[in-house]
Formats: sequence, C-alpha cells, structure tokens
Amino acid sequence: AKEMGGNCFSFYSQEMNERFENQLKMETALRRAVTNEELFLQYQPRICSHTQKIIGTEALLRWKHPEWGIVPPSRFISQLEESGLIIQVGTWVIREACRQNKLWQDMGLEPIRVSVNLSSRQFRSESLVNAVRSALADSGLEPCYLELELTESLLVDNTEHAISLMYALKELGIALSIDDFGTGYSSLSYLKRFPIDCLKIDRSFITEIASNTKDAAIVEAISTLAHNLGIGLVAEGVENINQAKLLKGYGCNEMQGYYYSRPVDANHLASVISQQNSL
Ligand code: C2E
Ligand code: CA
Ligand code: CA
Ligand code: CA
Repeated sequence: AKEMGGNCFSFYSQEMNERFENQLKMETALRRAVTNEELFLQYQPRICSHTQKIIGTEALLRWKHPEWGIVPPSRFISQLEESGLIIQVGTWVIREACRQNKLWQDMGLEPIRVSVNLSSRQFRSESLVNAVRSALADSGLEPCYLELELTESLLVDNTEHAISLMYALKELGIALSIDDFGTGYSSLSYLKRFPIDCLKIDRSFITEIASNTKDAAIVEAISTLAHNLGIGLVAEGVENINQAKLLKGYGCNEMQGYYYSRPVDANHLASVISQQNSL
C-alpha cells in the first residue's frame, strides 16, 4: 500500500509537472507570438433585424502558431490574462480594430461600428482610458464607431471604480455593451447605474429558444427591460432562421451568429459590406 501511495504521488506530481511545463511552453510561445505578429483579428458581422444589413462587427482575436496552426481563444486568452500579456495584446486589439474600421471607411464603405472584447485585467488597468483615447486619435476613427464589450463579472468586482471608469470611457464618445448577458451576476440594479448602450444576450438562451419556453420567456423579459431602459439588444449565437424570426418577434434589434456569418478576415467582410451597399 505504501508503494502504491508512492507511485500515485509520483504519478500525480509528474502530471503537475507536465501541466506546469505546458503552461511555461504556452507562455513562451505567446510571448513569441506577440513579437512575431502571429496574432490577428477576425470579424463577425452584427446584423440589423429590420434592414438585414451589417451595422457592426465584433473583433475576435486569433493566433496562428507556425506549427500548431490556428489556436482558439478558449485555449490562450486565460494564459494571456495570467501572464499579464493581455494588457499589451488587448491594447493592440483596440488599436488594430480602430485602424481597420477607419480603413473600411476610407475605402468608401458605409460606416459600421466595431466592438472589442475587454478582459478583467484590462478593465482594472490604469492605462485603459488613455489607450482607447490614443487608439482613436492615432487611427482617426470617430469614437461613435467603437464599442467595448464588458462582461458582468468584470463589473461586480469593484462597482464604484467600474462606474467611474465607464463614465470616463463614455466621455470619449464610444459605446459600451454588456457581453454574455444573463450568465453572470445579473444584478439588475447596475443597469440603472451603468452607462450602457446595449446588452448582448448570451448564446445559451438562444440555442433552444424555439423549444424551451423558459428560454423564450427570459429573452422576451430581457427585451422588454432593454426597451424600457432605452438600451439596444443583440442576440448572440443565432444559428438558424427560426431563431432569427423568433428573436425579431421579441423585439431584438440586432443579430449575430453563424446563420449570418462566421467570423471572417477583414478583406472578406469588406467585400460583403460593399456588395450589400450596391444592392
Ligand atoms: P465572446 O465574446 O462571447 O464571442 C463570441 C464567440 O462565439 C466567438 O468565439 C464566436 O466565434 C462564437 N460564435 C459566434 N456566433 C456563433 C454561433 O452562431 N454559434 C456558436 N456555437 N458560436 C458562435 P471565439 O472567437 O472562439 O471567442 C471565444 C471567446 O474568446 C469570446 O467569447 C471572448 O470571450 C474571447 N475573446 C475573443 N477575442 C478576444 C479579445 O480580443 N480579447 C479578449 N479579452 N477576449 C477575447
Ligand atoms: Ca464578445
Ligand atoms: Ca458573448
Ligand atoms: Ca461568451
């Protein structure tokens, strides 16, 4: 039994070791990714429910590793957070999204709003407001064409600080949204206190909206709430026409999901926008 225990322990510690080594390997690879410019953005359209036109797009971070290929964000965002690299990378994402959106406008495309995801570490960093301000100034993008997506968990940590930070961001003229709405601590009181322009209903409420009456009731209630508060509403993860029709019926004014488009490269999105403009 003693031997067994010993074996178990050494097996366990070996596994721990491997995990630690993998984490180190990942971190080294990520540092290299930043210097070698292996990170890039894809863009998923946000569609107006009424006109069916692209009125916005969410910037999503991608990593193309020379051997591993495309690594999904679920595999590396948390490592970026833990290593602190997220500040540098997150700043680059904001700058790149602004630069790209201005470029689309300079190409003559109808202006759209680009939204960028913020991590909690970025939200807590001193430099955020200045980073956004200089991204706007350096790109020449009008502030109303930039939106930051915040999650509920990021707002409940230090509410007073969050409120003043959000007002500072709003002063720059940008839009703010709550991402994955309904999955965090949805203390509805913050909707009253935070300067929020729109709510993005999490995909988990959309997936079974046609068959699950509870999901449908929740979405309908959120929609009524958003309307009465004068806040926009976006449905995430819309995958079929049935969901789209129901959501439109519930008063959801914007849609995002594979039914309309997967996240695509910047050039691809530009050609789709220019085609819809010439219709
Ligand atoms: P998110 O902000 O909730 O982004 C939406 C995710 O849902 C994206 O996954 C998108 O590709 C996926 N999606 C969109 N439509 C559909 C659909 O119809 N069906 C399904 N099944 N999925 C859909 P992605 O690109 O893998 O990103 C995952 C998460 O990584 C994001 O979730 C966000 O939390 C994080 N992330 C991505 N880019 C950044 C970034 O630049 N900074 C930070 N901090 N986080 C990011
Ligand atoms: Ca998002
Ligand atoms: Ca989301
Ligand atoms: Ca999500």
